[in-house]
This record gives sequence, C-alpha cells and structure tokens, in this order.
Amino acid sequence: MMILPDGTPLPGARHNKGPPDDLAIFPSRHFATRRIQQAVMAVIDLESRKKFLHEAVRLARESVENGWGGPFGAVVVRDGEIIGRGQNRVLLTGIPIYHAEITAIMDACQRLNPKALMGSGSQEGTLGLIPRPLGSADRAPERARMLQGCEIYISGAPCPMCMSAIYWARIDRVFFGTRLEDASGIGFDDAFQYEDFRLPWTERQAIRCFPDFERDHALTAIAAWAAKTDRHPY
Ligand SMILES: [Zn+2]
Repeated sequence: MMILPDGTPLPGARHNKGPPDDLAIFPSRHFATRRIQQAVMAVIDLESRKKFLHEAVRLARESVENGWGGPFGAVVVRDGEIIGRGQNRVLLTGIPIYHAEITAIMDACQRLNPKALMGSGSQEGTLGLIPRPLGSADRAPERARMLQGCEIYISGAPCPMCMSAIYWARIDRVFFGTRLEDASGIGFDDAFQYEDFRLPWTERQAIRCFPDFERDHALTAIAAWAAKTDRHPY
C-alpha cells in the first residue's frame, strides 16, 4: 500500500475509486480526492485537454474522409502525453468491433508493455500487480495495473462495448465530445444498446439470449481457474 506523507492511502483499484475529481474543469467539491489524485497523476491543464479531444476528432474525421469507418476517434493519455490512438475502421476492415476506443486502448497497452506479451510469460507492464487500496471491497489482495493513471479522450460518447473496455482497462477518466443522441441522429444505435442492456437476459430485444445453457459443463472452466494456485490475478 502506497501512503502519502500525511498518511492518506493512494487511490488504486476500480473498486475504491473516490468521486470524480475536479481537475481543471469540475467544481471543487471533493478536495481530498483531488489532492490525492494530483499527487498520483500529472496535472493536465484545460488547454491540453482540449487538444487531446481535438486530436480524437481529427482521427474521427480522417476515418470519414478516407472511407475507413464511422466518425469516431480516441486517444489515451498518460502523464500529459498521448500513448495510444484509435479510430473507427469498421468499413476498412469489415470488423464490426473495430472501434476507436478499443484500438486506442490496444495501442496504449502495446506501448506500455516491454515486449509482445503473447506467449512470452511476461507479467510486467500493464500486468504488473499493484495492491488493493486500504478499505477496498475488492477481495483480491492485488490487481494488474492495466491503464490505471490514464485518461481517454473520445470524439463521441462510447458505446457499451467501448465503455466496458474502459472499465477493464481501469482508465481513470473519460472525456467525450458528442452525445449518444448525436450518433443516433446519423444512424448509429449505441443508445438502443444501452437500453437493451438494462433488460434481463431473456427479455433482450435485439438478440435472443440463452442463459445457463450447459452450465454444469461450463463451470469446469471456472473450476480450472479457481484450482490454479499460480494464477496471475488481473
Ligand atoms: Zn464502441
């Protein structure tokens, strides 16, 4: 556990995030949280934040102009520097999940990791473990760092898939320009997906779901992870 000089534990895993801080933009309601966050992360001024968002928009427009995909771009920022860029390339690739945020997160992770992780056994970089913060409800004593300490700037509100990716990446803050309804207005159905997610599995409107199908057999995979004594938590 890292502790500030005044005894305050540093914030860490997603389970113990404080309220949103007010760096440069938001009202100063949570001074203690802001003070801690500033100690951990580089302070980014408002003009820089605008430039990051503008870069995301530039990527979005480039994708449109080249016919690569929808009007969406994203950048991941750490310590005031862009470490990952992404743009929608669904039309270029025919891959429906080729979204800007996913690509930016993958780009950032590749940059932070010392080498290609696949098959290397490396557990450095984004997989490096950090202890859970004091008082966390998280039952795991430590978690992989992933993109903790990073921010993502997106030209428009993230779809549910990309928002989930941002959770998995443990990104600290999300800034986005346009709203879901702006995207709906030009034919993208992100807003509908958010509504569908609220329904129970069997009541989803767009896709039929079959929960508990061969559950007993599938549970063997869960058991395999639980029984693995040398597993690397993430
Ligand atoms: Zn998306």
